Amino acid sequence: MNDPIQMILYFAAIILVIWAQTKVKGVYEHYSRVQSEKHITGAQVARRILDSHGLHHVEVQMSQNGVLSDHFDPRTNVVNLSPKVYNEDSIASVAVAAHEVGHAIQFAENYSFIGIRNKLLPVAIVSGNLGWFVIIIGLISNIMPIFYLGLAMLAMIALFQLVTLPVEFDASGRALAILRNDGYLSEDEGADAKSMLRAAALTYVAALLATLMQILRLVLMSQRGSRRR
Ligand SMILES: [Zn+2]
Repeated sequence: MNDPIQMILYFAAIILVIWAQTKVKGVYEHYSRVQSEKHITGAQVARRILDSHGLHHVEVQMSQNGVLSDHFDPRTNVVNLSPKVYNEDSIASVAVAAHEVGHAIQFAENYSFIGIRNKLLPVAIVSGNLGWFVIIIGLISNIMPIFYLGLAMLAMIALFQLVTLPVEFDASGRALAILRNDGYLSEDEGADAKSMLRAAALTYVAALLATLMQILRLVLMSQRGSRRR
């Protein structure tokens, strides 16, 4: 990797992802210290929004995973909230809880991008586990079809990350509308919640850009290799 452009792409991809993750952690820390005026916890918000949308069968549980591990599991119909989000009444807790419920509503309404995302999920998981391994095998053995297979797997990851974006933005959009319209948050608090969720969405954008940079780097690498031969 002595080509400077390849090197820049490699490190830019890593720095971008670390920057986005640091940023969302910082914003989360900030808004987890700002109490909501209604003093309502993430768990309470989640339960009330689910009930008001007729989703009584969807459970809200406290997971023992770390910060920002919150997620909705469509297989078990459980909104999993990390301990702080579940128990605390901060703007961050309320925003994250409502966002995860947004995913539950998407599933209930068969939101189009959720369907596409779920179809891509198994391929994305296999590609995520094996993609880089296949690429390295291709590079070491110098068998280009193997290398291109690995590259195609990375492209599948990028496609999955791309389809994830509208899903995430839509969940946040739904969450913010509900939080404001149903009086969970005031106008000002709604703006804070928006900042919180926007920072969270940034990590998904960064992940996609990082994958695209890695793909570009590998394409450049393969062209350089073929020129040498
Ligand atoms: Zn989400």
